Amino acid sequence: MAQVQRMSRLMVKTLRDDPADAETLSHKLLVRAGYVRRNSAGIWTWLPLGKKVLDNISRVVREEMDAIGAQEVLLPALLPKEPYEASARWEEYGDLLFRLKDRKGGEYLLGPTHEEIFTLVVKDQVASYKDLPVMLYQIQTKYRDEARPRSGVLRGREFQMKDSYSFDTTDEGLAESYRLHREAYQKIFTRLGLDYRIVSAVSGAMGGSASEEFLAPAAAGEDTFVDCPACDYAANTEAVTFALKPVEGAEHGPVEDVDTPDTPTIETLAEHLGVPASATLKNLLVKVDGEIVAVGVPGDREVDLGKLGEHLAPAVVELVTAEDFEGREDLVRGYVGPQGLEKVRYIADPRVAPGTAWITGANKADTHARNVVCGRDFQVDDYLDVVVVEEGDPCPSCGTGLKLDRAIEIGHIFQLGRKYADTFQLDVLGQQGKPVRVTMGSYGVGVSRAVAALAEQSADEQGLCWPKEVAPADVHVVAAGKALQTELALDVSEKLGAAGVRVLVDDRAGVSPGVKFTDAELIGVPQILVAGRRSAEGVLELKDRRTGEREELTVDEAIARLA
Ligand code: ATP
Ligand code: MG
Ligand code: MG
Ligand code: MG
Repeated sequence: MAQVQRMSRLMVKTLRDDPADAETLSHKLLVRAGYVRRNSAGIWTWLPLGKKVLDNISRVVREEMDAIGAQEVLLPALLPKEPYEASARWEEYGDLLFRLKDRKGGEYLLGPTHEEIFTLVVKDQVASYKDLPVMLYQIQTKYRDEARPRSGVLRGREFQMKDSYSFDTTDEGLAESYRLHREAYQKIFTRLGLDYRIVSAVSGAMGGSASEEFLAPAAAGEDTFVDCPACDYAANTEAVTFALKPVEGAEHGPVEDVDTPDTPTIETLAEHLGVPASATLKNLLVKVDGEIVAVGVPGDREVDLGKLGEHLAPAVVELVTAEDFEGREDLVRGYVGPQGLEKVRYIADPRVAPGTAWITGANKADTHARNVVCGRDFQVDDYLDVVVVEEGDPCPSCGTGLKLDRAIEIGHIFQLGRKYADTFQLDVLGQQGKPVRVTMGSYGVGVSRAVAALAEQSADEQGLCWPKEVAPADVHVVAAGKALQTELALDVSEKLGAAGVRVLVDDRAGVSPGVKFTDAELIGVPQILVAGRRSAEGVLELKDRRTGEREELTVDEAIARLA
């Protein structure tokens, strides 16, 4: 017995006009169709229809997470400062973090993501390698004080995320947990009816190495990605490099081949900068042939000079300080690389305040070692957003001209490695009786964002148009007439409900058929069943919301079709 929801009793107020502040299609339609209402900037109320869609998405996510053996937990959203201080994210997150104090002056935050806390939970609960691997997840409210919380629920300051975390003792184990998540995400997004691509990505504030994003192509998206029409290469433009021919006369090559006094060593670098070789650096810029190729490091973030030295390439001919960056925030380009050169084009992210700097770089293992720019060698900051390709640039794997598109980031998976395990000394007793450091992955799905992404991808001029698995009902029954039609509509609704079909029935008295049809199209349930002019004969009209195809059916036929 599925639910039969009567419109006459449903709290829904549809609007004919777009809300004044709405920029994206999903924002307009979700408000107009009565799914959500804005509470304050980036903070949303989920009304009954919206809550159903949100719950449907959560259900699919939950089923697929359970299917890979992940265990559901629920951690607090209100968190003490200390673990985030230990990981340095209390500072690194900057203004993105909602911070607050309790009555005794104790400092807290509202969780933007939970790597620290999950690490501590596992440290408390797990003692031996025999207890691993373990995968934990939660579906929870997250808080980020986004700079521009526009676009409705696409970018909330309070939003729902499914976040999961894997804990393994070996790199192979982590790779397997990552693979399981990747496959689960493919199933989730396919079931939800989202069109998506998996692209290489930079790791952002999470840190760690391997990372891929699930992007849903849509005009309203805030990410750009490149897609190769000829092979399966796809990458977020934040994370792409590709080969170019060498710059004439430039001295490049493997470090060991170019052991000249001009090659910056850790000592010459330190000397140049006037700091001890053991120092950490702030606001470092790296120039190649007079061009800035690397910019580090925002505010409080520090680059380990030793680590920089390890990867220092002969291509780095000049190191300067942050003042040199003045006036160059708009565009930075460079030519660096091991065999041949990579072209790297950096366009500053508007989110990066002038005067601050950031580091980033290639995402490809074979190029990063020479590329001091690389985010892989340093923790990359979330300010990061670097455009490195343009439409038509050659695909790094096959050379075909790349296509550039906009997309919504709906999921993100990371192989974190031991970053958080190191911070919190998360060890388990290994097979040899010695402690073994745990390696971690973290994996996120934007549950509330998926509602908007689905709306973006599936809506048409008439309104929302949900894929079956997420729709607030399976069928929208419309009583288009007087008592007779209402009686038939309610009767068929009861029968459909009894057959397990989720029904929304428009039984509102005193509302014209025209208004009901308009509302049905706007609300976007996939099937619309109308009790109209042939109701006396027990004949209904079934309309497919997406294709607009109609056909006449008897009550029994309609039930057989929809059940
Ligand atoms: P974005 O680049 O859009 O800011 P992110 O990379 O900061 O997202 P992650 O830290 O990777 O986000 O979080 C995992 C997922 O949570 C994202 O893939 C996205 O689907 C979702 N998400 C992140 N920020 C928001 C937000 N402000 N509102 C709604 N969903 C969000
Ligand atoms: Mg973000
Ligand atoms: Mg992102
Ligand atoms: Mg992300």
